[in-house]
Amino acid sequence: LIARMREFGTTVFAEMTALAVRTGSINLGQGFPDTDGPAAMLEAAVAAIRSGANQYPPGHGVPVLREAVAEHREKHYGLVYDPDHEVYVTVGATEAISATLLALVERGDEVVLFEPYYDSYAAVITLAGAVRRAVPLRLTDGRFTFDPDELRAAIGPRTRAIIVNSPHNPTGTIFNRDELSLIADLCLRHDLIAVTDEVYEHLTFDGVEHIPLATLPGMRDRTVMISSAGKTFSVTGWKTGWICAPAPLVAAVRTVKQFLTFTMGAPWQLAAAYGLRHELAWVTTLRDSLAAKRDRLITGLTQAGFEVVRPSGTYFVQTDIRPLGFTDGLDLARTLPSLAGVVAIPTQVFYDNPAYGKHYVRFAFCKKDEVIDEAVRRLAGLE
Ligand code: PMP
Ligand code: GLN
Repeated sequence: LIARMREFGTTVFAEMTALAVRTGSINLGQGFPDTDGPAAMLEAAVAAIRSGANQYPPGHGVPVLREAVAEHREKHYGLVYDPDHEVYVTVGATEAISATLLALVERGDEVVLFEPYYDSYAAVITLAGAVRRAVPLRLTDGRFTFDPDELRAAIGPRTRAIIVNSPHNPTGTIFNRDELSLIADLCLRHDLIAVTDEVYEHLTFDGVEHIPLATLPGMRDRTVMISSAGKTFSVTGWKTGWICAPAPLVAAVRTVKQFLTFTMGAPWQLAAAYGLRHELAWVTTLRDSLAAKRDRLITGLTQAGFEVVRPSGTYFVQTDIRPLGFTDGLDLARTLPSLAGVVAIPTQVFYDNPAYGKHYVRFAFCKKDEVIDEAVRRLAGLE
């Protein structure tokens, strides 16, 4: 393994899911639902295979998916993208993020991101030979947010891009208009590219609205907007993602992506297009059911002694383990299967500065009610 990748080892998701399988624990770690997406959309994938969509699709994605993504962006956010030159299909949001950073960031450039951050960001920044500058999200009045001065201080002459993940994994924060305006101002002032990870765009609760950064004045021209089907339609195994960006940025990403994977599985693309066009009402039902699951898990975890931060979006809750007498989330996550038969994700691995995240553990609530109830029952004995 090349020297600069040695710090990354195995992702925490693979480690913790393997631990859950090995110990037969309830897996509230890796974020994937335990019920399938909309039945007609699953049928659309089967129909696509049966109808012969089994050879290489075009490198930038099948036309019907690019058109469905463009329609969705316009309908929900008023953002207009040309499906031929400004929409690009990728192997999940993960490849979209990788290809974007590899295409747009030079060796030695700096990339600003918020910590805790989704683990692939750091690895790809390193792979690109760039340097990350992490700005901590700090718990303020029951919600994780950044200190504007810390964000300003992280931006310097070598900064090329900023990664903005909202709704945010793992804190559940949805950046509000004031926070986004500040980010937008800094992007414009310092000529930065914004890479937005919006995979949880539809998983928002309590009427809190997801605002894409690209909708702020001046930002559409400098934003690579990323999303995918996995979270919206409960099909995380389909790995179908997309980028919306101005044509020159898409062209740059395409130059890299064509040599990473060239293209993305045809049946999933056709089925994702069906989902975007016909299943958004199903997604509203999913969102409401997740809001109830969030409350169910929060109630149980609070009774078990965790201090829970209530998320406005995503399907994760960030919990402070100190009230239970634990101090290190990684130690706790590794012993939780033997202590309680439950697996969680230690969020300290998403921080550059472990001191900020040491005492947090993340639980997923995209699970059947009976699974949440059983997990909570097991965790009740921890104290
Ligand atoms: N970004 C975030 C914030 C995520 O939580 C995930 C995990 N689903 C991804 C990206 C990856 O998305 P995909 O499965 O579409 O590659
Ligand atoms: N996005 C999911 C999570 O945060 C899973 C990611 C993965 O398995 N790489 O749990």
